[in-house]
Amino acid sequence: MAVIITDTCINCAACIDECPVEAIVDEDDNPTGEEIYYVYPDKCVECVDYFEVPACAEACPTEGCIQWDDPVEGMPASPNRGEKGTPVIED
Ligand code: SF4
Ligand code: SF4
Repeated sequence: MAVIITDTCINCAACIDECPVEAIVDEDDNPTGEEIYYVYPDKCVECVDYFEVPACAEACPTEGCIQWDDPVEGMPASPNRGEKGTPVIED
């Protein structure tokens, strides 16, 4: 994985076009049925080889809505990743 979008998402759309691998979908396409944006963990590369910091989290205007989740086996994992459940960008 991956980063995860938590339920403090305000559906602002700032993240979706920033993702270099199109891992993010909006609330209409969220496979969990929740009315928030969603990151496909098997697509997210944690922006490794694209950006220093996950672009989605950098674009997100909320405080900590985008958090680290467990890495998916076989997917890139940022060397700077934090613990599961902690914000990707801390204030
Ligand atoms: S961390 Fe990077 S690859 Fe993963 S969803 Fe965010 S922008 Fe996309
Ligand atoms: S930028 Fe943040 S608040 Fe806006 S849609 Fe993406 S995750 Fe939700």
